[in-house]
Amino acid sequence: MVNIDSCESIRTCSNNGKWLLDVMSKGQNEISRYMNSLLALKEKELEILLMFSTLFKRNLIGPEDWLLPAVQHQQNMACYMILAYLTGAKKEKKNVIIPALKMAIGKGDKYITKIISWFIIKELLKSFSFDINSLLDIWPAVVCKNMNCKDFNFCSQDLVILIETEQTSQVFPIQFWNIEIKYLSQAGIEMKKEVKDHVYRNTKFTGSASVEVCFPENFNIDGKCASKLFKDHSNLTLICKSVYTLKDGIKNYRPCVQLFCRGKGLIPVEENHFPKFINNVKTDVLEGESLLAGRLRVGEQITSKHFSGTLGGFVKVLGKTTFLTCAHVVVNKDNLSGHNLTIPSNEAINIDYVQTLPNSHNSQTKCCGEVRYIEFKTDSPGETSIDAALIKLRMGIEIDEDDFIANKINNKHNLQCLGMKSPFLNENWLDHEKIFDGKSALQFINVTVGAVSGISVNTQSTKEKVEGFDIDMETVIETYNRIVQSENVSTFSSNAPVFSNDAHLQETRLRKVDKERTRYRLSRRMYNQIAVTHIPFQPGDSGTCIYVCDNSLERYGCIGMAIANHPGIDGGAIVTPMKDILKTFHLDIK
Ligand SMILES: [Zn+2]
Repeated sequence: MVNIDSCESIRTCSNNGKWLLDVMSKGQNEISRYMNSLLALKEKELEILLMFSTLFKRNLIGPEDWLLPAVQHQQNMACYMILAYLTGAKKEKKNVIIPALKMAIGKGDKYITKIISWFIIKELLKSFSFDINSLLDIWPAVVCKNMNCKDFNFCSQDLVILIETEQTSQVFPIQFWNIEIKYLSQAGIEMKKEVKDHVYRNTKFTGSASVEVCFPENFNIDGKCASKLFKDHSNLTLICKSVYTLKDGIKNYRPCVQLFCRGKGLIPVEENHFPKFINNVKTDVLEGESLLAGRLRVGEQITSKHFSGTLGGFVKVLGKTTFLTCAHVVVNKDNLSGHNLTIPSNEAINIDYVQTLPNSHNSQTKCCGEVRYIEFKTDSPGETSIDAALIKLRMGIEIDEDDFIANKINNKHNLQCLGMKSPFLNENWLDHEKIFDGKSALQFINVTVGAVSGISVNTQSTKEKVEGFDIDMETVIETYNRIVQSENVSTFSSNAPVFSNDAHLQETRLRKVDKERTRYRLSRRMYNQIAVTHIPFQPGDSGTCIYVCDNSLERYGCIGMAIANHPGIDGGAIVTPMKDILKTFHLDIK
């Protein structure tokens, strides 16, 4: 039995105290010898910390002499403490830090490498006056260009610092303490246009029998699986299915899981390579990031104080007419910067729309309504993430069923052109779960109306005419062609879009946590979205609804609303399923 008041513990304490005094009374050499032998003992962590803090405070030893030995013996907490005590000139710090960093990487100690790299980043931020508002993210990484690398630990000794900014500038430093600094600008992360063109020239779409059968039946990447991947890989931006892999700009029609990342071959310190397979399907690692892109007719350009976007469609709520767009279009970035949405409680958010005047190139901005309901649900792997807002129409603003679709030359298109039975999405949504039903990729003929990209129609489908197929395909195509003819659609794509489910997004940014300059890295994740290729999507098209003709359900309707761009070579959008959007507003939908 142990008596806690027994002399045992008292003796240990007093012994320690006495022994501390003993050590302090010794000369420099003896203190060093003692500390070196203590560092070699893994289990003496607390004692080491106590000794260091006492000796540093009394200036009996200098922290600059002890970082290397602490790294040598992989004493994590001691490294933290030494760095905290490390003051002095920049040059001196550099001479201490860089050899320690090299040693940590050499030993494959990811934890200590991380601590030291972040120390360097803090020094970098102190030395250069970056505009904190345009600084989107910053992180340390090692460079590995070996495509087949299977190394679990550091496969390379090259540390780089990645900085993501809104704009790059020539005055930014390209290295700090001999460490290379790489810049990623938002524009640069999107696949370069030349690369896209190159691929187009070299690839003929084979129109392979059907995209629907290329994935194993019931293959899925659920939110839980995506959540783990995002946690393990902070630079992963989008997980989605693809019917082809890309090699040297050539499309190879073999299903894969595309993993889009910021900076291919740059592995964040303390992380590993991306997995080669997910649920037995090969992965393809690509560079790119989805960005939430910032009269009332469908496809109308709308603007708030903060951003511009697209009017996706109309929704009837409690007898009132509202229209749907993205939450990120109508509220300020700061309101969305934490994990939870905060909205102003005592002022209305007015929404304007941009009206092109007939027979002229001029346009005018008019108020059309105010934000009524808003939903921004992210980070929950088990449900569909939502970024949506409903805007109540202002008095005097009406819907005209015969002039229903926005266009640049003021043609009148009625709502039947979108295959709709009524102006409201309440009666015109399609059930994506029924449509996908165990399949991974689908094709439809479709129409989209984006405020920036304009009207885009696609009447091609690789799907063969199926026996017992009840929709009169001729009529559908005729309907869609009517838009094409009258609209002179120039962006008419020759490839049919491919829709795939189980797309998951991650955005990692430095986020403001208070009114001061305090920022920390925060990842926001959007789960269970639909990825669509080959439809035009640009900033300002957020909120665009995708109207399709579904073969299996034998009806037209809206499958979802586009919230972000698809970073792949074919362009496209990430789409939130309409069923889940309507459900989040508690609408009685059947
Ligand atoms: Zn490697």
